[in-house]
Amino acid sequence: MAKARQYHHLFMISTILLLLSLNSVPLVSAHFFPNITSIPEDLLKNASTNPWGYFRQLGGCQAGKQYDGLAKLKHYFQYFGYIPNSLSNITDDFDDYLESALRTYQQNFNLNVTGQLDNQTMNHIVRPRCGNPDIVNGSTSMNSGKTNTSSSHFHTVSHYTFFTGMPRWRKQALTYSFLPENQLTDEVKTVFSRAFDRWSTVIPLTFTKTDSINAADIRIGFFTGDHGDGEPFDGVLGTLAHAFSPPSGRLHLDGDENWVVAGDVRTSSLTSAVDLESVAVHEIGHLLGLGHSSVEESIMYPSITSRIKKVELASDDIEGIQTLYGSNPNYNGSSTESVQERDTGSGSSGAHSVHSRWGLTGLIMAFGVALLLL
Ligand SMILES: [Zn+2]
Ligand SMILES: [Zn+2]
Repeated sequence: MAKARQYHHLFMISTILLLLSLNSVPLVSAHFFPNITSIPEDLLKNASTNPWGYFRQLGGCQAGKQYDGLAKLKHYFQYFGYIPNSLSNITDDFDDYLESALRTYQQNFNLNVTGQLDNQTMNHIVRPRCGNPDIVNGSTSMNSGKTNTSSSHFHTVSHYTFFTGMPRWRKQALTYSFLPENQLTDEVKTVFSRAFDRWSTVIPLTFTKTDSINAADIRIGFFTGDHGDGEPFDGVLGTLAHAFSPPSGRLHLDGDENWVVAGDVRTSSLTSAVDLESVAVHEIGHLLGLGHSSVEESIMYPSITSRIKKVELASDDIEGIQTLYGSNPNYNGSSTESVQERDTGSGSSGAHSVHSRWGLTGLIMAFGVALLLL
């Protein structure tokens, strides 16, 4: 009887392992360019295709009317949290959902709040950006969540946000590793090392590279298209990367981007050239617990124009991350929040809990394993 039960357990475990392996996706070698002069000519000739460039045709559409393709734009807004996920019937109508989404989006990105598809808004919508949503489950964040909040800061209103519940790492010495299948060069790995350093300068956390991907706290990988977490990448431009809230430690980058590893990306003639370090610093902010910020100069601002390098933490980023972890004793700048505040769990500005689907998957898996062990 006991033996039969053992076999049953073995069978169930093998089934789970098989399912997990089926769920895994082929990994890619991303497009890296050591510097801008190493980008091949044929790539320069092939003008980059922006998956959102199509939206420009929708400029000037008016509320109350119906337009072919408007549903795609509404899906975009739903993806980034501006239209509730509960709305399943997305139509081509310029309805109240779209108008409300536009107003919130415009507020978050410091645009004129018109509720219309004007040029200024359209130019922002098509910008390449982080795949993490700005708002999740209707919890407002960024500027739109700040309107009724009394500012506890004296001269400036801070715009940093956290994930719901303010999750953060409970240890200070973190390790990170790269997916071996990506076969990244040392030069690429150094970019991430520099990006981690920018954060560890201001908070008392350390980041150490390890070769053991399974043991690492933070796992970094390049993927293309659908890669098994319900958040597929979309080719050149569009979404560039996404990262999960603590303590998940997963940082995914779009292998289809033209990543510039070193040198001045601003002088690139390739309009789709994206600076790797800029995106890495932003995504590490998510890994550590920061959501998106409305401060355009901040690292945690959701979008980045291609051919832009932005790697310095702004005061908004520093205030936000020090609210979670306190200040690095060696950091000379000022920290505006006391460390006690970070444990209260209050004060969360209701930012998103990214990839809750994974949370659910994890829960189901854990439940399954628990059943097996019974
Ligand atoms: Zn982001
Ligand atoms: Zn992913």
